[in-house]
Amino acid sequence: MNKIMTMGEILVEIMASQRGQSFREPGLLKGPYASGAPAIFIDQVARLGYRAGIIGCVGDDDFGLLNIERLKRDGVETGSIQIVKQSVTGSAFVTYRKDGERDFIFNITNSASAQLSSVNVTEAALNGCTHFHIMGSSLFSFRIIEAMKKAIEMVKGRGGTVSFDPNIRKEMLRIAEMREALRYILEFTDIFLPSGHEVTLLAEAADETNAVQELLGLGVREIVVKRGAAGCSYFDSSQRIDVPGLAVDEVDPTGAGDCFGATYVACRQNGQPPMEALRFANAAGALAVGRVGPMEGTSDFAALNALLAEQITKVAV
Ligand code: ATP
Ligand code: MG
Repeated sequence: MNKIMTMGEILVEIMASQRGQSFREPGLLKGPYASGAPAIFIDQVARLGYRAGIIGCVGDDDFGLLNIERLKRDGVETGSIQIVKQSVTGSAFVTYRKDGERDFIFNITNSASAQLSSVNVTEAALNGCTHFHIMGSSLFSFRIIEAMKKAIEMVKGRGGTVSFDPNIRKEMLRIAEMREALRYILEFTDIFLPSGHEVTLLAEAADETNAVQELLGLGVREIVVKRGAAGCSYFDSSQRIDVPGLAVDEVDPTGAGDCFGATYVACRQNGQPPMEALRFANAAGALAVGRVGPMEGTSDFAALNALLAEQITKVAV
């Protein structure tokens, strides 16, 4: 059986309870919730019943245990998560502006997640991995970038494949070497999963159509552009497929892109054609925005099929 793995930050998220709440004054907060883009991704893969594993570091604390126990419960293989003594699990505080935009305060670069290095990337840690997924948000230090390169080379060396979600937050772009590292990873990428505005970020071309052609020319085999409520678009060397978004109420957008990407990659890895994978991924993203909490919106196939069936009924009526 295929095994999908990822590597990177494992965090807790603590969120403002009210839209428009400011972190410059006291207010009611909710959490801790299990979080971290790679962790959400891999949780979604496991929820679909596929083999899934993550390499990462947590502190020797309850925030770390909360994550490990949650991932385990959902079926993720957690043996490659290191508990780093004398370190604390990373955290993110998030508040939602009135217009729906989010602001984050991260404690990642001083957390256990920053301890991740090439030492964590071994044959044993990557045991059975046939597909490796990279989140751009994980590439916040040279040590981690080196570790990521090692993992890519090991997985590719044994005939595996790689997917990449640039997942860039504005805070990340302050790191000057980021673009170079992202370009390097792109050269090994089989499946690229940018958000709409990220398509041109790593290309020379300034518009989406030309950027897509340029990226396919680099050797990327499939590009899936995530478009929020508008759905998604798929591109390969011979076709384009657009899938409109499903009609759902958005209560918390965090994690939608991760659930979408996980579902797309898992379906493709397990032999489903692009159109099927896009339908399920779209449903996974739609279900994720309907739940409060970054990892609370992961879904199994029963839930995805139920949403898709419900939407077909709505259209028929
Ligand atoms: P993230 O902020 O998690 O990084 P992203 O930009 O990577 O998000 P989005 O495009 O916001 O990803 O969402 C991923 C997918 O989830 C979309 O392509 C779509 O299928 C689905 N989705 C997101 N928002 C909505 C919505 N409001 N209604 C329906 N589907 C949605
Ligand atoms: Mg994203």
